Amino acid sequence: AQLLTINGLSAGTEDKPILHNIDLSVGTGETHVLMGPNGAGKSTLGHVIMGDPAYQVTSGAIEFDGEDVTQKGADKRSLAGIFLSYQAPVEVPGVPLYSFLRTICQMRPELKTTARKFRQRVAKISEQLEIDDSFLTRELNVGFSGGEKKKIEMLQLLLLRPKLAILDETDSGLDVDALQIVSRGIEAYRADCDGALLMITHNTRILEKLSVDRTHVMVKGNLVAEGPASLIDDIDANGFGRFEGAVEKDE
Ligand code: ADP
Ligand code: MG
Ligand code: MG
Repeated sequence: AQLLTINGLSAGTEDKPILHNIDLSVGTGETHVLMGPNGAGKSTLGHVIMGDPAYQVTSGAIEFDGEDVTQKGADKRSLAGIFLSYQAPVEVPGVPLYSFLRTICQMRPELKTTARKFRQRVAKISEQLEIDDSFLTRELNVGFSGGEKKKIEMLQLLLLRPKLAILDETDSGLDVDALQIVSRGIEAYRADCDGALLMITHNTRILEKLSVDRTHVMVKGNLVAEGPASLIDDIDANGFGRFEGAVEKDE
């Protein structure tokens, strides 16, 4: 069944069109990869799917889990099961990580549980991700290193069990150890939650362990190619050059 269906989506900021006529569908439990040069609009697409108010949809529609969410706020989309890992996670001073996690889980009927069971769930996932207990009492993301922030995002992902996780360069700038843990987190999400993934990445190594169903290529706000997992190797070897030509001719 289709989980996410994007139809003819154009979007941008108040004064700048960024995405042009995007069609993209993700089925339940599928793993999709979105590739493209810097500035292509990949992050923007992630944010628009999540409902970030910084962007306006000028045409088209986003359907998620059988519902048109185009006009819905980010909070509603999050509760519906969309998760976006930001390239730059926000710091929230004054809110301890553990309280934050408890609050977001209690907001979801399917995740509501006793304090004791919740503590056990967090402990189990923290162990899986090698997150030290001391992090849980620290303020959300404040002073966390890049790698630590990513691990905390994986913790959120495994706690929230979204139907669709959009991971925006979650793997960039990580050392080997952190990369391995993030990679393990993504695999656990795929295996335990049967969640769908939309991976935005330049790192093809992290994709080797996932079985990729579909690859999409974005250039200058347009989706210019779609193909099987083998398209990743093609791009790895040959770059985006031939796709860039395709957009210029169309413009
Ligand atoms: P990618 O993730 O593929 O590198 P982005 O989605 O971050 O690309 O950016 C696509 C284009 O849209 C860039 O030219 C970027 O500067 C512009 N852009 C993205 N978000 C904003 C914003 N909030 N305000 C102004 N321009 C933006
Ligand atoms: Mg699959
Ligand atoms: Mg980006």
